[in-house]
Amino acid sequence: MTASIATTETIVVVGGGISGMTAALEAAECGRQVVLLERNASLGGRTAMLYRYFPKLCHPTCGLEINLRRLKAARNLRVLTMAEAVGVEGRRGDYTVTVKIRPRFVNENCTACGDCASAVTATVPNPFNYGLDRMKAAYLPHPMAYPQRYVLDPSIAGTPEGERAKAACKYGAVDLAMQEETIELPAGAIIWATGWKPYDAARIQPYGYGEFPNVVTSVEFERLADPHGPTGGRLVRPSDGREAKDIAFIQCAGSRDENHLRHCSRICCMASLKQTQYVREAYGDEARSTIYYIDIRAIDRFEDFHQKVQRDPTVRFVKSKVARIVQNGRTGDLTLHGVDTEGYHRYATGHDLVVLAIGMEPETNGLALPDDVIRDSSGFLEGSGDGGQQGAGAAASPYDVNRATQSATAAALRAIRVVRKAADVEA
Ligand SMILES: Cc1cc2nc3c(=O)[nH]c(=O)nc-3n(C[C@H](O)[C@H](O)[C@H](O)COP(=O)(O)OP(=O)(O)OC[C@H]3O[C@@H](n4cnc5c(N)ncnc54)[C@H](O)[C@@H]3O)c2cc1C
Ligand code: SF4
Ligand code: SF4
Repeated sequence: MTASIATTETIVVVGGGISGMTAALEAAECGRQVVLLERNASLGGRTAMLYRYFPKLCHPTCGLEINLRRLKAARNLRVLTMAEAVGVEGRRGDYTVTVKIRPRFVNENCTACGDCASAVTATVPNPFNYGLDRMKAAYLPHPMAYPQRYVLDPSIAGTPEGERAKAACKYGAVDLAMQEETIELPAGAIIWATGWKPYDAARIQPYGYGEFPNVVTSVEFERLADPHGPTGGRLVRPSDGREAKDIAFIQCAGSRDENHLRHCSRICCMASLKQTQYVREAYGDEARSTIYYIDIRAIDRFEDFHQKVQRDPTVRFVKSKVARIVQNGRTGDLTLHGVDTEGYHRYATGHDLVVLAIGMEPETNGLALPDDVIRDSSGFLEGSGDGGQQGAGAAASPYDVNRATQSATAAALRAIRVVRKAADVEA
C-alpha cells in the first residue's frame, strides 16, 4: 500500500531518538514536508532511558521536553510510531521506503487513564528497563512517553485478557482488530537516525555476564539508578537485594578489542565517570567506586568533569584491563583479577556489583539498505555517495547527545538541499 502522507519532496527520517527528532524538527521548521518513523511505541530512543546526562547531571527529560513541544507545533511533520523502516529502493530524489507498522491495539481516543492496565493480570518483560523487571501487558512505555497512549502487548490480543482490557476502557480506545500492515512511502531524501545498541555482554566470556547476576551493563545501571526503574532508584544487587555500595566499573567492555568491537565507543568513559556520582548520591561518603581503565577518554569540555570525579575521595582509578571475574557461589560476591599496569602488581579485589561499560554498535546492522550506502569499518552509516541518504547521530558514530544533535542538524540541512534541488528541477 502506498501512503498518501508523502511525496518525492518529502524527507523521511528513520528513528525517533534525540537525533531523529532533531533532524525532523529542523527540516520541518524550515518548511519541508517530513515523516518521522519510530519502530517503538514512543519517541526518545535510548536517551529517554538514561537517568541523568553528563556533564551537568540533569535529567534527559529536560532536553526531550523541548523537542516534544516543538514537535506538537510543527505543521509539516508527521510522526508514525511502531513503524519500522525495513527496506529502501530508488535513488536521490525518488526513493521508496518500505515500512512495517505493528498494531498498538489502542487508538487515538486513549486518555492514558490506565484502566486497561488495572484490568489485566498478564505481564511481559519491560524493554524500557532492559528486561530487568516485568510490566502489565497493557502499558504506557514510560511516564514521559510521546504519544501518551497505551499499548497492548500482542500476546494478549485475542485472549480473555485482551477482552478484559477492552471492557475496562470507557473511551472505546482498545481496538483488538488492528493488524500489522506494510506501507510504502515515497521520499526525496532519507535520514538514517537509527541509533545504536549495546554490544552483547554475554560474548565477553571472562566477565560472566548472564551467569553472574551481580554483573550488569552500564545501560542497565542507568535504569537501576532511575526512580522510575526496576528498583525504584535503589542501587541494590540483583542477586539478593543487598545495598551495592562498593561498585567496580570495567571500561572498554567489548570495545577496542579485536575479538569484539574494534572501535572506541567514545562515550563510555564519560558514562562511568557519571555513574560514580550516582553511587555517591545514593550512599554519600560510604560509597566506593573503582574504575578499571586502559586510558580515560574525556574529550574537550568533558575533561573538567573527569577532573572533578578524580578529586572525589569515594572514587578510585586502577589502570588495568580486568582479566576475569570470579563469583563466590554462595554469596554472589565478585572478585576481579588482573594486573595493575601502573605498579605492575597482581590484584584480586572484591566488589558488591560490577558494571560493564559496554560498547556501542550501530543499530543499522541488518537493515536492507541500497548498495550505494557507505558504512565505515565498524558499520556506522555515513550516507550514500549521491547525498540522498544521510547518517545522523549515533547511527553515524558513537556520539554523545550534544554531538548527535549537531550531526542531525547537519544531516537535515543536507537533506533540505536535496529535496529543494529536486523541486527546482520539476518546476
Ligand atoms: C551507558 C550510557 C550512558 C550514556 N549517557 C550519556 C549522557 O549522560 N550524556 C550524553 O550526552 N550521552 C550519553 N550516552 C549516549 C546517548 O545514549 C546517545 O548519544 C544517544 O542515545 C544518541 O541518540 P540517537 O537518537 O542518535 O540514537 P538512539 O537513542 O539509539 O535512537 C535511535 C532510535 O531509532 C529507532 N530505530 C532504530 N531502527 C529503526 C528502524 N529501522 N525504523 C524505525 N526506527 C528505528 C530506535 O528504536 C530508537 O528509538 C550514553 C550512552 C551509554 C551507553
Ligand atoms: S486504552 Fe482506554 S483504558 Fe487504556 S489507558 Fe487508554 S483510555 Fe484508558
Ligand atoms: S570511551 Fe573509554 S571505555 Fe569507552 S571504548 Fe573508549 S576508552 Fe574504552
